[in-house]
Amino acid sequence: MRVFNFSAGPSMLPMPVLEQAQKELLDFNGTGMSITEMSHRTKAFMAVNDEANALLRELMNIPEDYSVLFVQGGASQQFAAVPLNLLQKGKADYLITGNFANKAYEEGVKYGDMAIAASSKEANYTYIPDMNSVKFRDDIDYVHFTYNNTIFGSRFTELPKTDATLVTDMSSCILSEEVDVSKFGLIYAGAQKNIAPAGVTIVIVKKDLLGKASPMCPTMLNYAIQDKYDSLYNTPPCFSIYVSMLVFRWLKEMGGVKAIQKINEEKAKMLYDFIDNSTFYKNKVAVKDRSLMNVPFVSPSEELDAKFIKEAAAEGLVSLKGHRLAGGMRASIYNAMPVEGVKKLIDFMKKFEMENK
Ligand SMILES: *Cc1c(COP(=O)(O)O)cnc(C)c1O
Repeated sequence: MRVFNFSAGPSMLPMPVLEQAQKELLDFNGTGMSITEMSHRTKAFMAVNDEANALLRELMNIPEDYSVLFVQGGASQQFAAVPLNLLQKGKADYLITGNFANKAYEEGVKYGDMAIAASSKEANYTYIPDMNSVKFRDDIDYVHFTYNNTIFGSRFTELPKTDATLVTDMSSCILSEEVDVSKFGLIYAGAQKNIAPAGVTIVIVKKDLLGKASPMCPTMLNYAIQDKYDSLYNTPPCFSIYVSMLVFRWLKEMGGVKAIQKINEEKAKMLYDFIDNSTFYKNKVAVKDRSLMNVPFVSPSEELDAKFIKEAAAEGLVSLKGHRLAGGMRASIYNAMPVEGVKKLIDFMKKFEMENK
């Protein structure tokens, strides 16, 4: 039986994509082999690589003067790749709004003079600092922030106010809502949350930032080299790129990012409205900063949280346990989660409340 999987990542994939991948697993496009068994230099795979790239450009409306790279090492590798490629003056400012934001900062510190421009750590990351009052240093190479905070369930709704290059980690929200790519110097995202199986990491980078990497920068992390070789400098994560292409096709067919954003807003609203109207469940994130993708909540006690997670799983609502840093529950409702899954979760929450109040 297929369950409704609320995992934060790797996470649920759309059913039509899984079915297509299954159908093509023994024979991809008449080649007599699967996409995972062929050289990445074959015509068949290069066509997949090109189509995935072109579809992502189309879906996100990525301007011509940006490169789209498919790299490896996860979003975590970008915490180092970003400073190694972008630092010229040797300084960057970071906004610390969650665990991954902090990890990016801690990695960055190894390569330059990094400063924390603002942090919400003192409130266990339950809000995003007010962008009107955050000041950045002069002469910085970039400002780094995490667009959507996967563990704590918050998201930026306003961009940092600065002339410096904006760099953002969109691992858990890429393609969930419309963004104006031209406002950013660099966007990166691991695929395993809102796109595909783990393996590929998307980097969208303005071309004028390329070619300035530190001499220390490993070849594999050098964006200019990845760009020059169309992300095929070495063997790429072929299967993950292939499933990305299928997901991009699926999304395009659904009407693109605009259409999925509407559904995502509807799903998130249903869940937050239910939580806000209940005296049993609580979401601690400032209302204006709430994530569309990751919805953490708690019941009145840790014992009830544990009971909730166990009983929900028995009804086919799985992976609802919150991250250990946040506790309680977390429902990750990425693009692939149907409205029906959120409705079923709310029905279960109602029943659980009645039985345990
Ligand atoms: C999951 C996640 C990461 C870490 O991704 P890896 O691909 O495992 O390195 C980084 N940032 C955000 C926002 C995430 O959600």
